[in-house]
Amino acid sequence: MKTIGLLGGMSWESTLSYYKAINEQVKNQLGGLHSARIVLYSVDFAEIEKLQHEGNWTTCAEILAQAAQSVERGGADFLLICTNTMHKVFDAIEAQISIPVLHIADATADSLLRDNIKTVGLLGTRFTMEQDFYKGRLTENFGIEVITPSPEEQALVHDVIYQELCQGIVKAGSKARYLEIIESLHERGAQAVILGCTEIALLVQQIDTDVPLYDTTGIHANRAVAYALSSE
Ligand code: GLU
Repeated sequence: MKTIGLLGGMSWESTLSYYKAINEQVKNQLGGLHSARIVLYSVDFAEIEKLQHEGNWTTCAEILAQAAQSVERGGADFLLICTNTMHKVFDAIEAQISIPVLHIADATADSLLRDNIKTVGLLGTRFTMEQDFYKGRLTENFGIEVITPSPEEQALVHDVIYQELCQGIVKAGSKARYLEIIESLHERGAQAVILGCTEIALLVQQIDTDVPLYDTTGIHANRAVAYALSSE
């Protein structure tokens, strides 16, 4: 079994989900007392969040690249960056280490295409919904059309992530608004909706809606376990 490197803490609430999902998958597949080999570096998210909102992605990239180097030195065979948003600086992180980095959007695209989904709604932080580093990758590399919420809906989705979910706060009112937004993306033609922020599954799950949901945390964790247990 390969050792899984996690670059986490963005937020730690979602890193818990990764840790649990990865270990559950390993236990499911290997049974008994088996658990995953993991090296985790968990950042102080307050520092990262401040830099994000100042638009200082260069410093974000430097901090995360150093953290990724620590994970590699700790013995990880490959790395997951446990947030969709920070894949904005994927190339800068990847360039500073020699182990492979499994991209969260690529894993998600593979799941969508396996289910024949070509048009998808995207929920995430404002950075993920507005900018091209994520949507563009889905469209250019995989031919998937991406529909995003209206500007007002994007503001709501973004604020709930930072002011509630990343702080472990789950509110019924926010869940209801998210479900309305998911429904409206579906009415605008999305065959499914990507939960493109690693905390969103703390708020909405598949059981809450008939619209197919693609939870990036679960997908990324499963991809990691498949790779860790493969002979690749
Ligand atoms: N975990 C979130 C994501 O998947 C947001 C936190 C962050 O900005 O990294 O995008």
